[in-house]
Amino acid sequence: MSRADVTIVGGGPAGAALAVELGGRGVRVVLYEKARHPRLKPCGEGLLPHGVAALREIVGVPDAPRVRGLRFQAAGVSVNADFPAGHGLVVRRDRFDAWLFARAASTPNVDARPGTAYRGERARFLVGADGARSMFHRRLPATVARPLRVGLSTHVAGLEGLGDRVEVFFHDDGELYLAPTGGGEALVAALFDYARFRPDGVTHLLSAIPGLRDRATHIEFTTPVLAAAPLGLCVPRIVDEDDGLMLVGDAAGTPDPITGDGIALALASTRAAAEAIVSGNLRAYARRRLTMGRTANRLGRLLLRLSRTERRAAWVLRDLSALVSPLMHVAVGRTPLD
Ligand SMILES: Cc1cc2nc3c(=O)[nH]c(=O)nc-3n(C[C@H](O)[C@H](O)[C@H](O)COP(=O)(O)OP(=O)(O)OC[C@H]3O[C@@H](n4cnc5c(N)ncnc54)[C@H](O)[C@@H]3O)c2cc1C
Repeated sequence: MSRADVTIVGGGPAGAALAVELGGRGVRVVLYEKARHPRLKPCGEGLLPHGVAALREIVGVPDAPRVRGLRFQAAGVSVNADFPAGHGLVVRRDRFDAWLFARAASTPNVDARPGTAYRGERARFLVGADGARSMFHRRLPATVARPLRVGLSTHVAGLEGLGDRVEVFFHDDGELYLAPTGGGEALVAALFDYARFRPDGVTHLLSAIPGLRDRATHIEFTTPVLAAAPLGLCVPRIVDEDDGLMLVGDAAGTPDPITGDGIALALASTRAAAEAIVSGNLRAYARRRLTMGRTANRLGRLLLRLSRTERRAAWVLRDLSALVSPLMHVAVGRTPLD
């Protein structure tokens, strides 16, 4: 038995934020992270406004490019969808995760162990913050969401016409996301159904989407193309009260990245996770996190249906554009989706 009160496995955004929150409350934490930051992670790198707000309360916000909303495009139809309040951030994951982990490591009561894989020693409470492929799914099983999807992400320099919105392109071969990461670089992410996946998906979409080819003539890839699959994950049971085990972040389930959620979901539920540990009532956290996750999953399924083909996405953007604002309220956690 360790002298700590809580063992956290995983020092990504979910584990690091929880360590800050617990350490600040006088709870002794050991935080294991098998990698050494900075490390890249396949991600769309958009942090929605409710994630920014949660981050501000937990630890403050890093210096990162701000975005005021999204611009959706399909078959030449384009619609701006700005956040109802606040702003989002584009958080390059190597920088952001390193920044947040350093904050955790300098928090009183936190014993952060970078480059150290978890080997089974534990305190009274054990937190699985080890991502979508969590080792704790052997005890609290997860199911892969349908349709099966694959994601690619990378960074480029020299992409022209970047603004202060995340750009989302719907194409029959997949979706493409562009966002400014600062210093003239951009995040480029692509999401595909399994059947349409191709390893050269990023370059393919950059040249296949009309209007983008001209903007991408002089691009240079500045980080490797990373892949992740499958994308969505459902975890019906995320705490084991008898054992003091709790899952947070992607380990507790993750919506399809079309929602832009994931990091925000982890950060917005951090306080509830910390309170549950302090009070010993893990079930209160489970209820809150599962409700938030259900809304995100429903939104993800709806968005996937609305954008199943480029033609359908263009029709929605043109003829059902009144839907965009209410869906944005759901995406930023203001309205539940029943
Ligand atoms: C293609 C794609 C696009 C996405 N786009 C977005 C987006 O735009 N916005 C958004 O909010 N979310 C997005 N997401 C989701 C987002 O990446 C995740 O929600 C987020 O990374 C979850 O954080 P986490 O801390 O739970 O897990 P992770 O970030 O996966 O961190 C888990 C950590 O645990 C460590 N670890 C694992 N096993 C062990 C072990 N045994 N011992 C010690 N350490 C261990 C890992 O090294 C890792 O650092 C996207 C995901 C993908 C795949």
